[in-house]
Amino acid sequence: MIIVMKPTATKDNLANVVKKLETLGLRAHLSEGEEVTIVGVIGDKKTIANLEMNMMDGVEKTVRITEKYKMVSRNFHPQNTIIKVGDVEIGGDELVVMAGPCSVESLEQIRETAKAVKDAGAKFLRGGAYKPRTSPYDFQGMGEEGLKIMRQAADENGLKVITEVVDREDIPMFEEYTDVIQVGARNMQNFQMLKALGKSNKPVLLKRGLSATISEWLNAAEYIMSGGNEQVMFCERGIRTFETFTRNTLDLSAIAAIKELSHLPIIADPSHGTGRWQMVQPMARAAVAAGCDGLIIEVHPNPEVALSDGDQSLKPKNFAKLMKDLDAIAKIMGRKI
Ligand code: PEP
Ligand code: MN
Repeated sequence: MIIVMKPTATKDNLANVVKKLETLGLRAHLSEGEEVTIVGVIGDKKTIANLEMNMMDGVEKTVRITEKYKMVSRNFHPQNTIIKVGDVEIGGDELVVMAGPCSVESLEQIRETAKAVKDAGAKFLRGGAYKPRTSPYDFQGMGEEGLKIMRQAADENGLKVITEVVDREDIPMFEEYTDVIQVGARNMQNFQMLKALGKSNKPVLLKRGLSATISEWLNAAEYIMSGGNEQVMFCERGIRTFETFTRNTLDLSAIAAIKELSHLPIIADPSHGTGRWQMVQPMARAAVAAGCDGLIIEVHPNPEVALSDGDQSLKPKNFAKLMKDLDAIAKIMGRKI
């Protein structure tokens, strides 16, 4: 349920509403807008079903919410959420670009990539040090050493770091090295991991599961938010369909769907979304036009010899060209890179 307060409601009116909810064992989630305050009610379903709040002073109306996700819902929080990572804002006017290799492979490789993506205008360095590979015989990542050198390369170039955690036991270590923790597609419904990230103080980028519906994805985000970590952003990275020409089918409509249903930012990943570097540029441009808040793009100085995902990695010069195109499209969308 949400309780919409009157524009004329006083602080005392609001305090009384919150107090009543708390007396019944419910939680109040406040969203204070410029005009009105909305109180999201969280807790036992039966108690909420029997709740009568319309008679209270300052209450304009109550609205029953049928979706299971609450804190993630735009009904609970009508304004867009902006996630601040140092001086970078995700979900605001800025179009935030995160770029780098699929895997961190060496100090030289990550340094060269960091410099190239920074020069082209990226704000984040991406790169995996723990890789969720389909085959156990494929490169599994450099581990903690990879995190260390990625942090170093990012700091040398004034970039933020985003990297994927694959084991919830490792979260404290990731908190030391990274600015945003990525949950990969294969872990979108790893509920123990989501609960653990609910206790983290780092923003989380939640990739869409390989076959996840929008509703499952929103509920996965609710796990993190309801645990206490409200800094969550989505990432559309393509889903499984019957098509085999592309690695996945980038679902651009998910960007519009998430914008309608949630207040949280959404990032697009045209690299995993297509699996083909030739398609990364057009799909990145389309995602910005569709209203995404940022992009995460694989860039490698030498894709032919990349230890993972070389086929979908852009060379630095193509990435720089793409950034110019994105700048123009971002302007039309009222955003800046
Ligand atoms: C990645 O970002 O390199 C990755 C493994 O992505 P996904 O979880 O979307 O497959
Ligand atoms: Mn990859």
